[in-house]
Amino acid sequence: MSQTPGYENELAVALEAVRLAAKLCQSVRKEITPGTLSKADLSPVTVADFGSQALIARALATALPDDLLVAEEDAADLRKPENSAALTSVSQHVAKLVPGADAETVLAWIDRGASNADPRRFWTLDPIDGTKGFLRGDQYAIALALIVDGRVEVAALACPALPQGLNPGAPEGVVFAAIRGQGAKDQPLDQPGDAGASISVASDADPSAVRFCESQESGHSSHSHAADVAKILGITASPIRMDSQAKYGVVARGQAHLYLRLPTRADYREKIWDHAAGSLIITEAGGLVTDVDGRPLDFSLGRELLSNRGVAASASAQLHDRVLHALRQVGV
Ligand code: AMP
Ligand code: MG
Repeated sequence: MSQTPGYENELAVALEAVRLAAKLCQSVRKEITPGTLSKADLSPVTVADFGSQALIARALATALPDDLLVAEEDAADLRKPENSAALTSVSQHVAKLVPGADAETVLAWIDRGASNADPRRFWTLDPIDGTKGFLRGDQYAIALALIVDGRVEVAALACPALPQGLNPGAPEGVVFAAIRGQGAKDQPLDQPGDAGASISVASDADPSAVRFCESQESGHSSHSHAADVAKILGITASPIRMDSQAKYGVVARGQAHLYLRLPTRADYREKIWDHAAGSLIITEAGGLVTDVDGRPLDFSLGRELLSNRGVAASASAQLHDRVLHALRQVGV
């Protein structure tokens, strides 16, 4: 198995995997009839979540069989008799893309993602990041990253509902890609042969022109603390609220200057799969990412960022310094 030191092979495998998973997510989402979902009925996102993980675990197992995968889901719930309809649906969706895949095979692929974080080399996956956005018809992402010795080396981030450029009317579907030290790119999701275009963060802006992103969900990031920080920084534009790591992509391609993820609870620890891919894409696009205390994100401590609180990502070091200062003033 060729494993080039520059990780080009790994990136190619990861991009193909997230593209295939994105196809499954898009086809599951097409089946959702808006307004028909009750709160207890989480099946579309369950189906897409497990299906996406199965496809990506299979792709990694085929191309890089020695690599471990640390993913958000395991198949235990899907094996329960009461979830047999969901399992059938997952298998049918997977089999449309991988002919012949049956339920047992799909379960085994999903369970490949149940590794614990190996300190040397492993992949981490969020099969659907932004599940609320997926259900709402808003943004979501498929986020895959390779971590080696605690550092993110490769990132592939598919954002099936993100416009392919800065024009809101552009066709949807973008994949962001990065290898440490080689810059970041974006590519149209539906054009696998496209080599992609380099992306970079926005240059320093006047506070009145600074745009910041935050989670759509106020339970995932404190909107009120972010508003206080924005006030201190002199930011007048309203926040760009968006689900998933699409926020990292939006800052990496220069559409916004800042991504704030401010803790809502003292005991919450960020999950590695919620930040691994996005954080490499933003740093390779020329941006900066730390936690709210200014510490680098530490991906060497298992499934969670145990030594970090929240996240702040900025387009420039100068802006980042001002943000960290404002965060201290606000008492985040
Ligand atoms: P977002 O789409 O940016 O709101 O982020 C979605 C992610 O938020 C999910 O993948 C969860 O892992 C994560 N999450 C769940 N609860 C919290 C919380 N209390 N604080 C921060 N993130 C959370
Ligand atoms: Mg997530």
